[in-house]
Amino acid sequence: MIWYISDDGVEKGPDTFFMKPTDQNSLAWIDRELASLDEQGLRRRLRLRGGVQAARLVVDGRELINFGSNDYLALASDSRIADAVIAAIRRIGWGSGASPLITGFADLHSRLQQRLAGFEGTEAALLFSSGFAANAGTVAALVGPGDVVFADRKNHASLLDGCRLSRADVRVYPHADWQRLDRLLSKANRYRRRLIATDSLFSMDGDFAPLPRLADVAESHGAMLLVDEAHATGVFGRRGRGVAEQLGVEDRVGVRIGTLSKALGGVGGFVAGSRALVEWLLNRARPYVFSTAGPAAACAAALAALDIVRDEPQHRRRLVSEAEQLRSRLTEQGWNIGRASSQIIPLIVGEPDLAVARSAALHRRGLFVPAIRPPTVPPGEACLRISLTCGHTPEMIDTLVAALREVRRLTLRDIST
Ligand code: PMP
Repeated sequence: MIWYISDDGVEKGPDTFFMKPTDQNSLAWIDRELASLDEQGLRRRLRLRGGVQAARLVVDGRELINFGSNDYLALASDSRIADAVIAAIRRIGWGSGASPLITGFADLHSRLQQRLAGFEGTEAALLFSSGFAANAGTVAALVGPGDVVFADRKNHASLLDGCRLSRADVRVYPHADWQRLDRLLSKANRYRRRLIATDSLFSMDGDFAPLPRLADVAESHGAMLLVDEAHATGVFGRRGRGVAEQLGVEDRVGVRIGTLSKALGGVGGFVAGSRALVEWLLNRARPYVFSTAGPAAACAAALAALDIVRDEPQHRRRLVSEAEQLRSRLTEQGWNIGRASSQIIPLIVGEPDLAVARSAALHRRGLFVPAIRPPTVPPGEACLRISLTCGHTPEMIDTLVAALREVRRLTLRDIST
């Protein structure tokens, strides 16, 4: 609800404020809320990373093997990409100066959009300044009041925020439950538009959405299908387009979203689809219309990364096969990896304190494996999230497996003493 103050000074809005009358400081509630996060073991803190983004990183002056980055193809520090960016900055400078619709749209943005459309095999593509903006802006541009969005319970926060921004009705269906979705859609005829929105590869669980089934459901109910391939772009599919390519349903996904920030090693998000879709989004997606275009030099990075994805498919093939081997080694050790079937492998431990303590125990053994806690995962599903990349050597993976064998035996009491 938004409350406006009219010109005559009459306030049309809530008459209460969430402030204790005794508070001298109107922001005092923040300290109380932070203390409560501390008590629940849910307080997050920034960690300063030293050195370049790679399979090794320096945290608090200590070198660790990094299993916490989404740099799946180890491109974030690839010198070919750095060279492309430096050359672009020398040629055209850094900032974009305005939103794309004013003066921010440069030749490199245009070239990258065409290249992304070619990569995805769609008519057109549109660049956003982040994957988050692409998701939130696209959902909110496709549906509004009088419409309904169906969203997987494990979708990324940016899709959920798009649902909220849209002011459409939102139905969150149980994870990957396409049968339930089908039943929900059968009762949704009264809506003007229907949209199904899902991650293709779930960022915390590392499992795939049942895209062929979702496409069946979407088609049988005349619903739009939006798929966020953030963690799959560059990794899955014969050409690296993602899970939709891998599962052979690309032509049935009308709205495909990807990010340049994970396997492609840079920054920015994109939507690929029909020319009409892209034309609509550039008129109506608010993060596109009202935000400065990303630096054109970042497009040079993405173009170089797409060349590497095209020319060197061996990296993604190796990553997929090494991830498979690692998953089976960890399952043999007795870890619960849920339904993981990718390079993202959660070790589900349940309680946030135990996840944090085990992550700290790994840290002491020279490994960075982040603990993931609510609200990023649902309560009771705190985990250690392993993210495998092409930068990891077989020795690094062996070190991880050996350390996890020891850490699995530790209880909260052992670790804290
Ligand atoms: N979608 C998913 C599934 C993600 O995990 C993320 C980032 N963690 C995003 C979208 C947002 O992408 P970006 O980081 O480029 O904003």
